[in-house]
Amino acid sequence: MSWVSTLARPEIVALKPYEHAAWDPALTRLHANELPWRGLDDESVAGLNRYPEPQARALIEQLAQLYGVTPGALLICRGSDEAIDLLVRAFCRASQDAVLVCPPTFGMYAVAAHIQGATLVNVPLLADKDYALDERALRDACQQEVKIVFLCSPNNPTGNLLHDDAILRIATALEGRALVVVDEAYVEFAACESLTRRLPQRPNLVVLRTLSKAHGLAGARLGTLIADREVIGLLRKVIAPYAVPQLILEAVAELLNPRHLRTLPRRIEQVRAERTRMQHALSQRPIVTQVLPSEANFLLARFKDPALALARANAAGVLVRDARGYLGLADALRVSIGTRDQNDRLLRAWA
Ligand SMILES: *Cc1c(COP(=O)(O)O)cnc(C)c1O
Repeated sequence: MSWVSTLARPEIVALKPYEHAAWDPALTRLHANELPWRGLDDESVAGLNRYPEPQARALIEQLAQLYGVTPGALLICRGSDEAIDLLVRAFCRASQDAVLVCPPTFGMYAVAAHIQGATLVNVPLLADKDYALDERALRDACQQEVKIVFLCSPNNPTGNLLHDDAILRIATALEGRALVVVDEAYVEFAACESLTRRLPQRPNLVVLRTLSKAHGLAGARLGTLIADREVIGLLRKVIAPYAVPQLILEAVAELLNPRHLRTLPRRIEQVRAERTRMQHALSQRPIVTQVLPSEANFLLARFKDPALALARANAAGVLVRDARGYLGLADALRVSIGTRDQNDRLLRAWA
């Protein structure tokens, strides 16, 4: 048996996947119980009366090129959120297997674990070492039942990168025993390369990318899971057959054009410049006690009176993220980097 089939839920390994209707637009489709006519004002390319192409090949090619990986290593999901959920559902048996997370971190990993009935193992990041991974504690905590380790780099909400070397050491130590999933939702804003280039040497490494942040396409709900072919093959059995709607396939194929890709570095540069300005300006506000350095498009700040800071932002019509529920961040709020005007509005509220 392959390592993936030893690791995954036996029911999923044995599952015969739903056979969706063959997809070939050149043929006459009398096999999917679709209506043969378009809606009156349907101006989509393919016609919304038709089911979309499952794991659309053209989009997979486009994303494979964007992320510099082979098309076979890629699964298109409804945002990284769905990728996280699929991983937990495919690899963790309820009440038996565990998911390991490193708080304070993105909440969806724990939510997906709870929904599946998987045990949650917490190995906190080292707050006194710039929120670095606690490698020793992590390895000690990786007992047989841990099937997935979720790491987030740059980490939401603390904004720091985790060290590549530490991540790779953990992946090596857990080879054949657990998946190490690196969520790189913010990597485009960081001064580092994606870990995708290390995938060929590490079969248990999984990288999550998304169009929601640097690409400015959060509304499209398009995330990409990049992993060993065998992991992709297993997850394709679990994902909904028509996960991505036709309108989104068409919009994303159109939007990810060379012109968009050329503007990307400029946009990222703008965000970084505003991030630097905001980091400085926020740390000079009397109500702010600390602003953490960030490699992402947000800043995490600590306050003397976070409730007052939140109230003042809201009164000025500005939403910021209450981060007080995260482990060790009872005085913190998270601020996304907006336009200069938007950022100034927040600065005035906290003057
Ligand atoms: C925003 C974010 C995502 C993106 O999720 P999508 O479902 O792709 O929009 C993933 N991971 C983290 C840590 C995030 O903050």
